[in-house]
Amino acid sequence: ATPTALLTGTGRGAQLGILIRGPQVLEDTRTVDTIVLDKTGTVTTGTMAVDDVVVLADLPAAALLRLAGAVEAQSEHPIAQAIARHAAREGRLPEATAFASAPGGGVRGTVDGVTVTAGRASWLERNGIRPTAGHLAAFAAAEGTGTTAVWIAVDDAVAGFIALSDTVKDGSAAAILRLRDLGLRPVLLTGDNRAVALQVAAAVGIDATDVHAGVTPEGKVDVVRDLQAAGATVAMAGDGVNDAAALAQADLGIAMGSGTDVAIEAADLTVMGNSLEQVAQAIELSRRTLGTIK
Ligand code: ADP
Ligand code: MG
Repeated sequence: ATPTALLTGTGRGAQLGILIRGPQVLEDTRTVDTIVLDKTGTVTTGTMAVDDVVVLADLPAAALLRLAGAVEAQSEHPIAQAIARHAAREGRLPEATAFASAPGGGVRGTVDGVTVTAGRASWLERNGIRPTAGHLAAFAAAEGTGTTAVWIAVDDAVAGFIALSDTVKDGSAAAILRLRDLGLRPVLLTGDNRAVALQVAAAVGIDATDVHAGVTPEGKVDVVRDLQAAGATVAMAGDGVNDAAALAQADLGIAMGSGTDVAIEAADLTVMGNSLEQVAQAIELSRRTLGTIK
């Protein structure tokens, strides 16, 4: 395509709320044939809701929620925001100090003189916290119902877990159909558990064999790289800190406009409307600009 066509395409994108890093992006992305989709905040709304607070130690559920909420208030993860919001309804949250976090893992901090750790099993393990067989059974049962469960430990002993749920965005299923029509194979990628991932995949029309769950942020890069090694030209859409490296690795990185700054910086284009429909539109735009489709 001529530089003028590319510039026109870029301008047309801006009108549609699709911010393209440079004209060259359109040219580079003509051949994408696979689209890797982050689940939380990309396929789903990312506005999670707390469904249940399950106590596995000797403390009231309200106390557990308050401690978890105080630490999560320092994190911008959708899970963290849901827990903090829910906890804040019961009263003002204490300030957490000595805050630490691992993207795609969890958070840790000191609240009211106790150490609170919240996150996935590997994050607990990294902090030397070991759930008992009984804890694991309760947690697995919750996950089996298709909820997202997050461990909460107090002073390095498991105190319980919080179960959350998310909603698929209106339009995600239609957009995935459109992406298929454009010749792209959709792949779902998430740090969340497999039951939740499979439920979302079924709701939006992604094959179960193209679901990668329980993936760490580094693992997300590997999934993209493996697809590329198998000959695919990969677009990846994501919104989180945990997606940034994979967005950079992809042939075409697409960030949600509501996403974190790190994701937007790592991406080649950003869709301001935060929808997969706009992702399909962006790919159509690049093809149209380059004369691949009319
Ligand atoms: P996704 O790929 O679905 O966007 P992430 O990679 O961000 O998910 O997170 C993967 C998992 O890590 C979450 O399902 C959760 O168990 C855990 N996790 C990440 N951040 C937090 C946090 N702030 N608090 C608790 N758990 C977290
Ligand atoms: Mg996400």
